[in-house]
Amino acid sequence: MNPLADALVAPLELRRDPVLLRPDGSEMSGDALHRLSGRIANVLTEAGARPGDRVAVQTEKSAEALALYLACLRTGALFLPLNTAYTTTELDYFLGDAEPCVAVCAPAAEAALRPLAEVKGITLLTLDGSASGTLAAHADEAPEAFVTVTRGPDDLAAILYTSGTTGRSKGAMLSHGNLLSNADALVETWRFTADDILLHALPIFHAHGLFVATNVLLRAGGKMVFLPKFDVDTVLAQLPRATAMMGVPTFYTRLLGDARFTREATGHMRLFVSGSAPLLAETHRAFEARTGHRILERYGMSETTMSTSNPYDGERRAGTVGLPLPGVELRIVDADLGVEVPQGEIGILEVRGPNVFKGYWRMPEKTEGEFREDGFFVTGDMARIDSDGYITIVGRAKDLVISGGYNVYPKEVEGEIDGLDGVTESAVIGAPHPDFGEGVVAIVVREPGGGIEAEDILSALQDRLAKFKQPKAIFFMGELPRNTMGKVQKNALRERYGDVFAKPCDA
Ligand code: AMP
Repeated sequence: MNPLADALVAPLELRRDPVLLRPDGSEMSGDALHRLSGRIANVLTEAGARPGDRVAVQTEKSAEALALYLACLRTGALFLPLNTAYTTTELDYFLGDAEPCVAVCAPAAEAALRPLAEVKGITLLTLDGSASGTLAAHADEAPEAFVTVTRGPDDLAAILYTSGTTGRSKGAMLSHGNLLSNADALVETWRFTADDILLHALPIFHAHGLFVATNVLLRAGGKMVFLPKFDVDTVLAQLPRATAMMGVPTFYTRLLGDARFTREATGHMRLFVSGSAPLLAETHRAFEARTGHRILERYGMSETTMSTSNPYDGERRAGTVGLPLPGVELRIVDADLGVEVPQGEIGILEVRGPNVFKGYWRMPEKTEGEFREDGFFVTGDMARIDSDGYITIVGRAKDLVISGGYNVYPKEVEGEIDGLDGVTESAVIGAPHPDFGEGVVAIVVREPGGGIEAEDILSALQDRLAKFKQPKAIFFMGELPRNTMGKVQKNALRERYGDVFAKPCDA
């Protein structure tokens, strides 16, 4: 038995049909992907990878990179994907912390990583986005037969380092049981079948593209149009081949920004899913007005994979992340008192279920600090549950602004500003304030050609928000800083605007 390899990899052996469709028209069948996973599994084993060892991977997205993930599942080695944006200095930390036995990097990064790998005794292999590099060369020579190693549901399958905007990035340890139960819950909730073809434009170094998109499609026996990255022209060209798409909100705002994205262009689609960052209610409405589709928004994080989803058949409520997935329990807790808040009030979201990770790699104290005694994991997200069970995420607890002793939830202020004519979107942060502790600062993106000014925003908010929630400073930017997963980088905004209320030093 090997839960994930049995569920995701073994069925490929019997599939002669194409599983991966590439934009250039080439394809890879299920059995070819299976054979490739066997070859790579032999290369990894030859390089010394044993069950429980880590295999760190920083490469472009490709069929071979996907086969490398599948090969790790088969060998029992833990797959440790790394964002392609990480620099050598950042990799130094990850490789030092995770102590992988094998690291796979882009050929261009090899020279910079070689000394590090030698010091740490790591076997360094290379792979680029078009199937060349030393890993691919060794795989060509290796036998395709490989006996998949036995694993149990509690054995680890992967380590995902959190994006870690504060402090050291933590490695979330995910087990076979975590990932398989989540894939099953999503296949069921979103009705994926072998007839589905997913337009896959997400990176596979993150939970969204790997554990949601890829695992779900492999589990359902479907196919993927496997794009190296998101690009509006390619997505529009490939859309006719697909039945479903998963994306971060920026994918959908960019598609809406293109006049070719129409009701006709999407008429054949079954489902659009959004997650990884909040989807503005306005984007949800604009998408429906343009295409007739209601985007299905879901919520999760590296540590829990997916926890909630809007329903497939029931109401997909804009601005909410829906209901708990089957088997997942949620509660909202007062951060200070540690007790559940009355229904409808805001607090910290806690999660318990088969999806919740096994802890942070080599950080037992950190792990202990983020789990309650009864097994609930403290997500650090602030949320509210409506009377009919729908959950709204109001932001990360660390982004909460406390002004004059009162809590200000950035999302509430952002929602009011975003609703004004002439505003595309906004981000609200707290900046240290000599009188109020923190003051609300709004960073606003104007609609193209719009001339809205700070005074217009302030006067519009007069009657809509209590005084302490109103921005004490407003700045305009051409666009908000975002990471690859579409999340607004509030840390970067705090760095830039954090000293706006600082008193000039006394001479
Ligand atoms: P990551 O671990 O990189 O997947 O980031 C997880 C975080 O992304 C969560 O803790 C949330 O703060 C945020 N997130 C994910 N999905 C959503 C969503 N649908 N709405 C709002 N925030 C989300």
